[in-house]
Amino acid sequence: MEFIAFTYVGNFMEREVIDEVVFTVFDEANRFFRENDISLRFLYIGKLKLEPGYLISLNTPEGKMRVYPLEALVDVLHARLLHEIEERPDIRMDKIFALTTFPLVSRNPYFDFYERFLGIHETRLGLRIMVLSMKPFEPPELGELLKAASGSETPDEEIKRRVRGGLSLFKDRVLKGVLHEVGHGFGLEHCSNDCVMNSPSTMEEWDSRMLGYCDSCFINLKRAVEWSEFNLGHGEPK
Ligand SMILES: [Zn+2]
Ligand SMILES: [Zn+2]
Repeated sequence: MEFIAFTYVGNFMEREVIDEVVFTVFDEANRFFRENDISLRFLYIGKLKLEPGYLISLNTPEGKMRVYPLEALVDVLHARLLHEIEERPDIRMDKIFALTTFPLVSRNPYFDFYERFLGIHETRLGLRIMVLSMKPFEPPELGELLKAASGSETPDEEIKRRVRGGLSLFKDRVLKGVLHEVGHGFGLEHCSNDCVMNSPSTMEEWDSRMLGYCDSCFINLKRAVEWSEFNLGHGEPK
């Protein structure tokens, strides 16, 4: 079995969203791997804290936002992964995956990924760092709905129903994004089938995608995981 360290970074998110989206995505991704007999699991290593000193200001369509530049995040994730590997010499792990609640931006130039749902991959000394922003996947009305639901003592059923619907849509979108990035993490390229590896040009397209890999991506992923496990284990039999 191979593990990917899993964490999230989010200082601006409601508790409900963390529970319903981050942890459900974590559970469902692991269930997906298990049910499909892929010997890969996410390992939750706790929430990641970034020092406020790294924060920069960014202009977004929703106004000024305080965000962390990607370079700082990758540094922290790399250090964290090294630490986790040291702490757990008994398991096979050379990758870390972070979900962020804020858009991903880079320091030089201030490249703005805001409108794009795009994961970041970086390899450092053989260790793979993957980052995916949840922000672009968030249904636009969700924030207002959550506010309405928490603002009143007895939110009406209609609002509760819409909150559940919004969280569930958010979760499915992020889960597809996570599977997409895991695919890249194991060398998969984009494909043109009904598949999470087919990167969409609109959110509607993304919503219409099957939650899973097409046959060809699935076989490639499975092979790549087996091969990676073999290499990580320095050739020991499973
Ligand atoms: Zn991609
Ligand atoms: Zn595919």
